[in-house]
Amino acid sequence: MGAITIGCHLSTSAGFEAMGRTALEIGANTFAFFTRNPRGGSAKALDPRDVEALLTLMAEHGFGKLVAHAPYTMNLCSATERTVEFAREAMAGDLERMEALPGNYYNFHPGSHVRQGAGRGIELICEGLNQVLVPGQRTRVLLETMAGKGTEVGRSFEELARIIDGTRENQLLGVCLDTCHVSDAGYDVAGDLDGVLDEFDRVIGLDRLCALHLNDSKNPRGSHKDRHERIGEGTLGLDAFRAVVTNPRTRDLPMILETPNDLAGYRREIALLRGLAADVEE
Ligand code: FE
Ligand code: FE
Ligand code: ZN
Repeated sequence: MGAITIGCHLSTSAGFEAMGRTALEIGANTFAFFTRNPRGGSAKALDPRDVEALLTLMAEHGFGKLVAHAPYTMNLCSATERTVEFAREAMAGDLERMEALPGNYYNFHPGSHVRQGAGRGIELICEGLNQVLVPGQRTRVLLETMAGKGTEVGRSFEELARIIDGTRENQLLGVCLDTCHVSDAGYDVAGDLDGVLDEFDRVIGLDRLCALHLNDSKNPRGSHKDRHERIGEGTLGLDAFRAVVTNPRTRDLPMILETPNDLAGYRREIALLRGLAADVEE
């Protein structure tokens, strides 16, 4: 059995190779990064030599797939036409740039329907994806499971399945399961991981489960709050994460920490989770 693939969100400010080196320093073999300023809109042009250096480093050190994250402001199902237009352009641009790093993941929040209703929200998300996804693109686009804060779409496996069903090139779609979000959404991921995975398989299909966001939660199951906590310090607890890193249906997926931490904290959490995973390895 191989080691788990785990990392955290890293800053793009010093470039791609620098992210790879930082990952190595903290014991990571994957990482997440924002494809552009998470709050704003502008995107930096990629330096091909920098990207090449990262790809070499990743190959040398056996990295798993990266999980890029779209900006939070990107809302494919906004009630404002300009915002929807921006979201489509931003996603199309991001996916074009991701082609420089072929074979990795691009994760996004499906969106907030801002009182238009989940049905209309899902329609708009599908319209956007139908406009943006290009057959032959080498980046799989992941819908993130959401906590159901406000009018967030993607608060249930059923809503994600409807987005997938309504998208033409849906062979390019997958799901990133966020442990804090699914618990906040009401799923008993801490007490019954296998039950949640069975449900995921029944509604979406486990072949779509591509990546994990590992976060403990500050709030009880079903709270719809979306406040991340450090691993083992929240309502999910350490045993929940022991289950995730050892379950045959999740242990081989890329895992990204989005806990409130600095790099030293992430280094400790990565070591902690690697330890939990190794306890049961032969
Ligand atoms: Fe996210
Ligand atoms: Fe997340
Ligand atoms: Zn969150």
